[in-house]
Amino acid sequence: MAAEEQPNSAGESSPRNMTGFLYDEIYLRHLADQAGHPERPERLMAIVSGLEKAGLLRSLYRITPRKATEEQLTLVHDPSYLALVQREAGNLQGFRTLSTGDTVVSEDSLEVACWAAGGVLTAVDAVMSGQVRNAFAAVRPPGHHATENRGMGFCIFNNVAIAARYLQKVHGIQRVLIVDWDYHHGNGTQDTFYDDDSVFYFSTHHYGAYPGTGSAVETGSGQGEETTLNVPLPVGASDALILQAFETKLVPAARKFSPQFILVSAGFDAMRHDLLGRFNVTPDGFAAITRVVRNLADELCQGRLVSVLEGGYRLEGLAESVVAHIKVLLEASVANQ
Ligand SMILES: [Zn+2]
Repeated sequence: MAAEEQPNSAGESSPRNMTGFLYDEIYLRHLADQAGHPERPERLMAIVSGLEKAGLLRSLYRITPRKATEEQLTLVHDPSYLALVQREAGNLQGFRTLSTGDTVVSEDSLEVACWAAGGVLTAVDAVMSGQVRNAFAAVRPPGHHATENRGMGFCIFNNVAIAARYLQKVHGIQRVLIVDWDYHHGNGTQDTFYDDDSVFYFSTHHYGAYPGTGSAVETGSGQGEETTLNVPLPVGASDALILQAFETKLVPAARKFSPQFILVSAGFDAMRHDLLGRFNVTPDGFAAITRVVRNLADELCQGRLVSVLEGGYRLEGLAESVVAHIKVLLEASVANQ
């Protein structure tokens, strides 16, 4: 499906009111293990097939990714970390774990990670240029655990953090809100912006699960004091509980911060019966929290929102949750025609 095949004739949605979908088969080429690693290519195949079955693919504006440059990766990552990844994952045969943490890489992982980071930048460009109103980026490997100098937790480069810096540097955006609903805390994203008041980081997660960060007392430091907001939730957290966190904590904080762009670290391992998570969020719950964030984008930043896949490991639940998520992103498109 190419962009020119999208419904864009008179009487149908104009691109400005559409939702973009960023995906490419390149993202299937990162293999994290030979035998049953949860972060596997089948995750994206399940998402695409779920969108197809739900009849949503034809309503989405397909965005073709590009590869991130070294300059773009170093908006967040230390050049010495890039060199480490190139050393350990470049010209690799078979599998190995990055020396910085529990991230298995294979022959094409470095290349795919560059396309994942670059893909999110492409989605950001599509929103900023008015090609689409908002977008979902189905990329892997995920990114929110990767810090400036450390790949960990299945993450090589921090796709969302790079996008936030890119928005500021290339598009002149001053304030970016990052909303992270992955079951795990996005330590890499928090670290990147911990003392920076130009990027607000909001996260719901299970504090105590991997990677062990994300307590409510972590609120930022220096200039960035009060621009990190962690809302730990207990095991079994329901749709109602996560929605309450979004309505009572995120909404007032976002209004106060007044972002010009919203990035979502959409981790669907907060779903019921996930292989790596112990929350109880259903597709309806993901739809409800998406609606809160989409409404904030509409209210505060002309609808500008890019959502990026992080975790989510039970294939059927992942597909259903992404479908529910994208349906709400599309509602924004319809509402603003
Ligand atoms: Zn996760």
